[in-house]
Amino acid sequence: MIDIKNYNKDNVFGKILRKEIPSDPVYETEEVYAFKDINPQAPIHVVIIPKKEYCSFDDFSRSSEEKTILAMIRSIAIIADILKLKKGYRIISNIGDFGGQEIPHFHIHILGGKRLGRIITP
Ligand code: AMP
Repeated sequence: MIDIKNYNKDNVFGKILRKEIPSDPVYETEEVYAFKDINPQAPIHVVIIPKKEYCSFDDFSRSSEEKTILAMIRSIAIIADILKLKKGYRIISNIGDFGGQEIPHFHIHILGGKRLGRIITP
């Protein structure tokens, strides 16, 4: 298990869920919320988060209810349709320090709108 162990409510995505800071919504259900990334890394860059509290995809993978896992996974194609990503897109989830995770509330990035190239630049 990675070493982020306890969910810290004082993170940016927790604040967005509680509407303490604004966000630009793309899709929302009882289980998930998707909004535009504030610092887009591609012409289209949206972040999908569960409304329940998980530190990372690692934590989510170990601890989440099946209903929430299904909701997160199903939301990806729905959001891809909303964003009209017909030519393809990339999903990324950074996990922990070495994975480059900055915000410790589980999220999936969905990026598209151009040819994205190789997964990691050497
Ligand atoms: P990660 O590095 O995987 O934790 O990704 C965190 C992402 O959150 C980055 O792409 C940031 O640009 C994005 N981000 C940070 N603050 C906000 C915010 N207030 N609204 C939307 N996206 C944000």
